[in-house]
Amino acid sequence: MTDAPFRPNGGRHHVVIVGAGMGGLAAAQKLKGENVDITLIDKKNHHLFQPMLYQVATGMISAGEIAPSTRQLLRNQDNANFVNAEVTDIDIKSQTVTAVNDEFTRVFEYDSLILASGSGQSYFGNDHFAEFAPGMKSLDDALELRSRIISAFEKAELTDDPKERERLLTFIIVGAGPTGVELTGQIAELANRTLTDVYSNFSTTSAKIYLLDGAPQVLPPFGKRLGRKSQRALEKLGVDVRLNAMVTDVNEESVTYKNMKDDSEHTLTGAIKIWSAGVAASPLARLVGEQAGVEVDRAGRVSTNEDLTVGEYSNVYAIGDLMGLNRLPGLAQVAMQGGAHAAKLIAAKVDEESTSNETEAFDYFDKGTMAIISRGYAIVKMGKTEITGFVGWLAWLGLHLMYLQGFRNRLVAVVNWAQNFFTRSRSNIEITKQQAYARNIIDNASKQEVK
Ligand SMILES: Cc1cc2nc3c(=O)[nH]c(=O)nc-3n(C[C@H](O)[C@H](O)[C@H](O)COP(=O)(O)OP(=O)(O)OC[C@H]3O[C@@H](n4cnc5c(N)ncnc54)[C@H](O)[C@@H]3O)c2cc1C
Repeated sequence: MTDAPFRPNGGRHHVVIVGAGMGGLAAAQKLKGENVDITLIDKKNHHLFQPMLYQVATGMISAGEIAPSTRQLLRNQDNANFVNAEVTDIDIKSQTVTAVNDEFTRVFEYDSLILASGSGQSYFGNDHFAEFAPGMKSLDDALELRSRIISAFEKAELTDDPKERERLLTFIIVGAGPTGVELTGQIAELANRTLTDVYSNFSTTSAKIYLLDGAPQVLPPFGKRLGRKSQRALEKLGVDVRLNAMVTDVNEESVTYKNMKDDSEHTLTGAIKIWSAGVAASPLARLVGEQAGVEVDRAGRVSTNEDLTVGEYSNVYAIGDLMGLNRLPGLAQVAMQGGAHAAKLIAAKVDEESTSNETEAFDYFDKGTMAIISRGYAIVKMGKTEITGFVGWLAWLGLHLMYLQGFRNRLVAVVNWAQNFFTRSRSNIEITKQQAYARNIIDNASKQEVK
């Protein structure tokens, strides 16, 4: 049943924010205390700190530590209301947003809209790869990956066939960006350090770990020097890094790639395949872009004006991963600063509604990027400054701790990191049948429903 369009009582300027990720939450928090009512809508009930997802996938920390309840995060913000529902439609002419949670549908009327629904995994038109090589964008993904990775070791204990064991213990990661590199480093740590003395029938160090990328270097945004250093650090961990390797097929058994240098074709057989090679903006970006008559790029990002508004719609802002502006990268800082910028402009408009039409361009401040390669080794790039090794690792820990939401989560993360650094244990490598199978079953069930 669909109710009449909803807007909060009291007649204040109503800001609807779609997506409570890095950008959407930053926008909502920046509007705290302003003369507006905020409705923050997200299909998930938690705010996810994606940069630490790989630590969940490899059992270093638990899911809750990087995914606090959005409703509780907004507990002390009187002008914000959270709605747990998926936005299925936006009409920028009638200024409405439709959100659905199972049998419940509600239409919201807004004065200002901040579109912050982020991005998802892209398989570059080969969506069928997803079944065999899941990506890592959500908690479900990370928990499923953890279950696949740990299950492979458990099954290897149960076979005496060396070929089968080799298949089970072969991990193939596609995509040598920060996510692929961080995940690869952690799988190598599991095999070479964490799990070495807990299985009786085989040595976990016999695991083969491949990292493939079509690019000629790992971590392209970090530049050649850091790329080379990272590759060497991964190789020291026993990772087989294959560059210029364009993946052409993924199936249950194997990954096939073409060597871009000599056009030769290679097939790697392995039980665990992971995809971290591409992103596509939330489909809502295209929806809004088409209505506003503005360009949407190949990755589905909607072009914005310099102030982050979309086309002629000065009350519609697009921020974060789905925004196409000056080729800014899909980074947490871009999203958070974009959210704060849109919030600032809305607050100014509300204050001076009748007196000023001035706007302000979004001026992104690049605070640098970083990636962890292994225990005690990270790379950091801040402008021309490049840091590697232990100092980089400490910088990574400090910065990520700062952005993690909630004091308790920070404390528990530090305890887990310390445990991992000083001992060989990880506290979160439990797996459940639900993690292993539920998502595929749900996906299949919903595909059948659509038919
Ligand atoms: C594994 C991984 C590691 C990363 N590591 C780093 C890193 O180290 N450093 C860094 O700077 N960046 C990193 N990033 C990128 C960074 O996380 C993103 O750039 C940032 O989260 C983008 O913020 P956003 O607000 O645009 O989108 P998100 O944070 O993704 O938030 C989008 C929100 O919208 C919600 N949503 C989507 N569709 C709908 C809908 N239809 N209805 C309702 N809600 C919807 C989603 O549930 C989500 O909560 C990483 C990303 C990943 C996946």
